Amino acid sequence: MGGQAFTTREIVNFPGFKSTSGPELMKTIAGHAKEFGTEIIKGEVTDVDFSGEIKLINTKKGQQYQAKAVILALAPNLAC
Ligand SMILES: Cc1cc2nc3c(=O)[nH]c(=O)nc-3n(C[C@H](O)[C@H](O)[C@H](O)COP(=O)(O)OP(=O)(O)OC[C@H]3O[C@@H](n4cnc5c(N)ncnc54)[C@H](O)[C@@H]3O)c2cc1C
Repeated sequence: MGGQAFTTREIVNFPGFKSTSGPELMKTIAGHAKEFGTEIIKGEVTDVDFSGEIKLINTKKGQQYQAKAVILALAPNLAC
C-alpha cells in the first residue's frame, strides 16, 4: 500500500484533505480500512484469472487468493 502518493511530501485536493503529506494520507487510509477489518497483504502479483465467477490472483511467493470481485489500481501507465 502506498504507491506514487507515498513518495510525495505534499498531496493537495484529495477529498477531505486540503493539504497533507503522501505518507500521512496513506497511513490514514490504511488505518481507516483496518478499522473495518481489512487485512493488508503485500506481495507481487504475477498472474490473474478473472474468467470464472471466483477470481484467482497468484503471487510471486506462490500464494493464491480468491475473490468475488477485484479492483485493479496499478497506476495509469501499468494498467491494461
Ligand atoms: C510526486 C507526486 C506528487 C503527486 N501529488 C498528487 C496530489 O497532490 N494530488 C493528487 O491527487 N495526486 C497526486 N499525485 C498522483 C497520485 O499519486 C496518483 O494519481 C495515484 O497514486 C495513482 O494511484 P494508483 O493506485 O492508480 O497508482 P499507484 O499509486 O502508482 O499505485 C500502484 C501500486 O500498484 C503496485 N503494483 C503494480 N504492479 C503490481 C503487481 N504486479 N503486483 C503487486 N503490486 C503491483 C505498485 O507497486 C504500486 O504500489 C502525485 C504523484 C507523484 C509521483
